[in-house]
Amino acid sequence: MEEHYYISLDIGSSSVKVIVGEKFHNGINVIGTGQTYTNGIRNGCIDDFDIAKQAIKDTIKKAAIASGVDIKEVFLKMPIVNTEIYDEKFEIPFEGTETEINGGHIESVLEGIRDLNDVPETEVIGVFPMKFIVDDLHEVSDPKEMVATQSLKVEAGVIATSKSLLINIIKCVESCGVDVLDVFSDAYNYQSILSPTEVELGACVIDIGEDLTQVGFYERGNLVDADTIEMAGRSITTDIAKSLNTTYDNAEKIKQQYGHAFYDSASDQDVFSVEQINEDGHAQFTQKELSEIIESRAEEIFFEIFDLLQDMGITNVNGGFIVTGGTSNLLGIKELLQDMVNEKVRVHTPSQMGIRKPEFTSSISTISSGINFDELLDYVTMNNY
Ligand code: ATP
Ligand code: MG
Repeated sequence: MEEHYYISLDIGSSSVKVIVGEKFHNGINVIGTGQTYTNGIRNGCIDDFDIAKQAIKDTIKKAAIASGVDIKEVFLKMPIVNTEIYDEKFEIPFEGTETEINGGHIESVLEGIRDLNDVPETEVIGVFPMKFIVDDLHEVSDPKEMVATQSLKVEAGVIATSKSLLINIIKCVESCGVDVLDVFSDAYNYQSILSPTEVELGACVIDIGEDLTQVGFYERGNLVDADTIEMAGRSITTDIAKSLNTTYDNAEKIKQQYGHAFYDSASDQDVFSVEQINEDGHAQFTQKELSEIIESRAEEIFFEIFDLLQDMGITNVNGGFIVTGGTSNLLGIKELLQDMVNEKVRVHTPSQMGIRKPEFTSSISTISSGINFDELLDYVTMNNY
């Protein structure tokens, strides 16, 4: 039997992640993964081409071995950097000819929106339909199999990014011997981790990674806006290294082992020793002392997010805040944010075996995006045997 696999590639500032999945009922079955820590990526962009390339190659190889799938094509996730989000409309006429709408018509109308972009140096990487209008009469979310005589219109959200950023990432990926089948922005991807109620009421996704904190706001079923702050896990580790007078690598280990983001709940009994720079011996600290450093940086990140939401004109987040990404592994992160807002807060961790860590949210939601578009356009993109 022919099987269809969906493979996503997330080139993160801390690690490259690949997931091989397949559609399973209404969800995704994870067949294998790969992850490689790298210094070749900064702020979600290629910083050192050769180092990044090696990390991508290694990760694809690991995922291929783990899954037993020969990886030739991937869905590439794009970070929300240099990204613009706006609305557009487009219509294809049928001029009185009775037409049964199929995936091809939907593809043309979305392609029409893509072609409207005339901002130099930018490239449209996502067109997500918000509603289709058949014959100027019926508003539908999926017009496939409906008959139209006049027109098919779409109102869609558009995600555009910097052309050179996109070209360089794709060049790096394709130099590893795989094709980029499609590109999905995290701005669109995160919607798949929200419950129908959250996405209806207005929910804010916060992905705190290594260099980037990405923020997306979703309401009435669709992406409204998204943006990024260049402050995340790396800033926390740097603060720890400075305050505890130790190396960055030591600080990273301490953060992961003893870190706590909420001072009020951190333990003053939990004591650890830290190797000192330019001094013999170790110094002792408690988790509570450590939490003071982490809390103040995490708080700064959240305050910047509130500013960002305000700039976007968003005043109500009735669906709550959903925190994810590697930094949300920190104990107390949920309590800290809950202390700062009145709305509901939850940490999102993917549920599939093998990827039950919040750092896999972006990669698995890239697969969801691939599946969404396959279903909308009525075809299966990936063929592997
Ligand atoms: P970015 O999205 O910023 O480009 P990335 O996607 O590679 O980077 P993630 O994999 O989501 O980032 O997260 C990596 C970050 O998570 C690192 O800064 C790391 O220190 C932090 N992290 C991972 N595990 C823990 C933990 N247990 N406690 C605290 N921080 C953690
Ligand atoms: Mg990331």
